[in-house]
Amino acid sequence: MPNVNGPKMIVGLLLAGMLMISGCSTGEPPADSGKSAVTATPSPAAIAVLAKADAADGTVDKVVSKCVTCMLGMDGNPENSAAYGEYSVHLCSKDCRETFVKDPEKALLALKFPEEK
Ligand SMILES: [Zn+2]
Repeated sequence: MPNVNGPKMIVGLLLAGMLMISGCSTGEPPADSGKSAVTATPSPAAIAVLAKADAADGTVDKVVSKCVTCMLGMDGNPENSAAYGEYSVHLCSKDCRETFVKDPEKALLALKFPEEK
């Protein structure tokens, strides 16, 4: 985030914010550096779906281990993972990962859970 072009006021606000954040930093490492390409911030609706999909795989660990592109019908493969917000999403195949990465919001908002008829 080396944005040096913004107005000084905004830079000041950012600095103040960073100071506040660093004051109570938990030292959380950047999620899953490497093959995860998606770094956008999910919408609240998408986060709700992510949380549900996370819980649906049996463990609430910010890792969605079922393929969301396959409506959680397939096990995800860590080899085909993508980070979205705080979540790490495991897709079952490279194709599914591409579909997800191309438009995570669409993929998540289209996701249907088995208990939702
Ligand atoms: Zn899939």
